[in-house]
Amino acid sequence: MKRWNGWGEETITAPLSAIATAFLQHVVGIGTPPRDATLEEVAARLPASRLPVRPGISTDPIARIRHARGQSLPDWIALRGCCIDSFPDGVAYPESAGEIRELIRYAGEVGSNLIPYGGGTSVVGHINPLAGDTPSLTVDASRLNRLLILDETNHLATFGAGVTGLDLEAQLRAHGYTLGHFPQSFEYSTLGGWIATRSSGQQSLGYGRIEQLFAGGYVETPSGALDVRPFPASATGLDLREIVLGSEGRLGILTEATVRVRPLPEQEHYLVVFFPTWEQGITAVREMVQGRLPLVLLRLSTALETRTQLALAGHERVLSMLEQFLALRGMDKRKCMLLIGVAGHAAVAKRTHAEVLHLARKHKGISTGRMLGEEWHKKRFLTPYLRNTLWRMGYAVDTVETATTWDRVPALTSAIEAALRTGLAEEGEQVHAYSHLSHVYPHGSAIYTTYVYRIAADPQETLRRWQRLKGAASRAIVAERGTISHQHGVGTDHQPYLVAEKGALGLDAMRHLYAQFDPRGMMNPGKLVL
Ligand SMILES: Cc1cc2nc3c(=O)[nH]c(=O)nc-3n(C[C@H](O)[C@H](O)[C@H](O)COP(=O)(O)OP(=O)(O)OC[C@H]3O[C@@H](n4cnc5c(N)ncnc54)[C@H](O)[C@@H]3O)c2cc1C
Repeated sequence: MKRWNGWGEETITAPLSAIATAFLQHVVGIGTPPRDATLEEVAARLPASRLPVRPGISTDPIARIRHARGQSLPDWIALRGCCIDSFPDGVAYPESAGEIRELIRYAGEVGSNLIPYGGGTSVVGHINPLAGDTPSLTVDASRLNRLLILDETNHLATFGAGVTGLDLEAQLRAHGYTLGHFPQSFEYSTLGGWIATRSSGQQSLGYGRIEQLFAGGYVETPSGALDVRPFPASATGLDLREIVLGSEGRLGILTEATVRVRPLPEQEHYLVVFFPTWEQGITAVREMVQGRLPLVLLRLSTALETRTQLALAGHERVLSMLEQFLALRGMDKRKCMLLIGVAGHAAVAKRTHAEVLHLARKHKGISTGRMLGEEWHKKRFLTPYLRNTLWRMGYAVDTVETATTWDRVPALTSAIEAALRTGLAEEGEQVHAYSHLSHVYPHGSAIYTTYVYRIAADPQETLRRWQRLKGAASRAIVAERGTISHQHGVGTDHQPYLVAEKGALGLDAMRHLYAQFDPRGMMNPGKLVL
């Protein structure tokens, strides 16, 4: 069963090796395992539902708790600290667009808000009900999960919007196709959630972000159904797909989505190259992406992230051999690891592999072959399970992400890391912050920074620490003119910083647009724009 207060299946754990534990204790200090609230303790504080009884709407306490929060660090703190200030009053599991229309009508009649819910993997507060007098009904799309049409002539597939990444790929792969969208939350996040948050998968370099993959679909809104046709291209004014993308549940509920699929690649492999310095690594990656090499992944870690990843990998003997090999070739602790993904027809993949190594060598890169890359690929969806382990050891982990143009990448990365590292100086707490370039483009790159700090005895103090760190990192992003989110969306956590990039007029335009579809403001209020 899925954990109610953490990541993933209860049966799956990610133990930390002794080297990794020692490393963490060195960089952050010794953690104190917190005492987490039990599900029964949270259930005992659950207020009564304010929704009138209706068939098809569950007011079961466990269902309401399980849909109360997503996966952000404040969400974890609220669940584990038993300090949740709002719950959905009910949860519905519709099986058709008709049932969703009926739920929208019902919510309007009883004066309830509606929260579209995909996999609940939001990390910015997207699916949390607002505290206050208005009841909330969460609409869980998980029963809209089937492959409805696979159009092999046009390479289009239509799915129910609640299909998870895992089920979507399994259904496509059975026919020899892939969508190629693999966010790290892939096992639980859904097609509808990806579209509503403008998600980016790990192989976006080769397959594109969700906005390139989303061709069209149906959205049930309080003002009627919006039908977005899957044209290959069109010159008919505003592209309606853009209204749906990133709408964060404000517009309506996406019931079906058509996506652009492609045949499974003949070959796919991952390799690792080390660069002597961060600057050399950045230049090499920029040249690779601007040279339009047909790669599916380029992921460059800073020197500190490289050291952290190697320590967390925990294979003492292999790592010592690797360190010796790289030291003999003149690399020191400034070395940075680049993960490269190659996929496609065998001949193209072979040529691309050779070209990418040629470019890497030009910037003093040294290939260590496929072992580390293949290991990453095999375990990539297990990494989030480490959050559970670290929490139990007394450490909180969170990430911030942004994107900017190439000229600003080094300064923005340094500014975010500095803001985080010094963010808890007043309380004498150390923060371990490290980054990688996660998604690269010819014109710039996304920056993804992970930070680890110690959990306090009082959940409210753990939350205050997070607020200080998140605020400092977000202000650094705004000051250095990065976007406040490259892939996680806005939700509630990024809202205060949105005006800096959209402007007052831009935000007003968004408000008016959503009001057109939802005049009473019942669709996921309080998220994205106020
Ligand atoms: C461990 C972890 C790793 C992650 N890795 C990535 C990553 O690599 N890339 C990335 O982009 N994100 C990542 N995320 C963030 C998250 O997975 C994405 O934002 C994802 O797109 C959310 O999908 P979901 O189905 O879980 O949506 P939810 O969290 O359920 O909802 C998110 C938003 O979408 C709306 N929504 C959901 N379904 C519908 C629908 N059918 N119609 C209308 N609106 C809807 C909701 O109302 C809400 O506003 C990660 C999160 C975690 C916890």
